[in-house]
Amino acid sequence: MNIWRKLLANIFLAGLAASLLLGALESGRAQAQTPSTYTVQPGDTLFVIANRFGVPLADLAAANGITDVNLIDVGQVLVIPGGESAGGVPAWPGETLGELAIRMGTSAEQLAALNQMETSTRLFPGQPVQIPPDATGDTALRFGPVTAVRLPSQIVQGRTGRLAVESSRPLSLTATWNGLPLGIQPAPEGDGRKQFAFLPTPALLGPGPFPVEIGYQAAGRESISQTFSVFVAPGVYDSELIELPDGKGGLLDPAFTQPEIEKLYALWAVADEPLAWSLPFSRPVSLEYPTTSPYGTRRSYNGGPYASFHAGQDYGAPEGVTVTVPGDGIVVLAEPLNVRGNSVVIDHGAGVFTSYWHLSKISATPGQVVKVGDPLGLVGTSGLSTGNHLHWELRIYGVAVDPLQFVEEGVGAWSGLSE
Ligand SMILES: [Zn+2]
Repeated sequence: MNIWRKLLANIFLAGLAASLLLGALESGRAQAQTPSTYTVQPGDTLFVIANRFGVPLADLAAANGITDVNLIDVGQVLVIPGGESAGGVPAWPGETLGELAIRMGTSAEQLAALNQMETSTRLFPGQPVQIPPDATGDTALRFGPVTAVRLPSQIVQGRTGRLAVESSRPLSLTATWNGLPLGIQPAPEGDGRKQFAFLPTPALLGPGPFPVEIGYQAAGRESISQTFSVFVAPGVYDSELIELPDGKGGLLDPAFTQPEIEKLYALWAVADEPLAWSLPFSRPVSLEYPTTSPYGTRRSYNGGPYASFHAGQDYGAPEGVTVTVPGDGIVVLAEPLNVRGNSVVIDHGAGVFTSYWHLSKISATPGQVVKVGDPLGLVGTSGLSTGNHLHWELRIYGVAVDPLQFVEEGVGAWSGLSE
């Protein structure tokens, strides 16, 4: 186990970190000529030193392999990043060629040959060392181009977390969350070197630790991947027993329900539109209409197990109340369905879809580009519904999560992910 993974394990064990930093495995910068170094003086902080040399704190930390900016010692020699790239990876202070080889997922012999030096050669801090382009050989560190992985330490059931990955070059990443394929998107800025995905967490998952696996295809080689762990914490949800009368039971015949489920899941699985919104979502009906059934309530049908949960948020509102678009997007479905009645589905990009069921009237058309506040239909009780209400559902990569998180916190923005 390499030091990064040990460090991560300790962070998990101590429960200290709200987000985890998989170190900066390489700074992506090197010194063209003699690298500048600085010896830490009494009273210095990394922040002060970064300001003094006019370099970003994160770059300074990355160039020196520092994961905790509060831990620097007087007398410690720091590499000051900022020169033009010489095509090499700068050595960390005190690092041997062997250690650098492990850090970059290659061997000391290979580095020695490439750089015309002995494996025992001492490196000076910041010395650029040429790395083989396909340096992915070592199991522990073959994550070379991935410089930072950020994940929440925990996600509450029914909530949505975010994964952010930075790499030293644009990388075609894949990722799964407990086996669910994630729709990785480029961040609005970052030249393809910053990417993100959501971690939609079903209300009935866990509690417990679940894996996030991140990988990429190395050129002409096998898939390279790393697995991380995120703890799913218990959410506070009610339970309800639902007795289906004989007459209505017949309506849940798969022949009646299945075609529209398949149609909807096929829509929800697409995550190829770019992020279309950045602000928190607005409510789809005005504030005077209260929640009548929140997202996440566990449901038992006819005395069976609590194997399902309310996938959306219900607002009590009379027939004819206008339903509005909560965030920018594109209408991808607007038609009557057997169970859900008159329905509208909006694609907000990045794998996020909102849906509106049981409408009395639809006023949106498929393909229509919609803006926040646009009317999309009227409240009703069409389909399998016992009274007028709006059922509002938010799905990410097909997983139903609590839509109110998007109203209250504005989960969509990239800003904040890179901190
Ligand atoms: Zn509902």
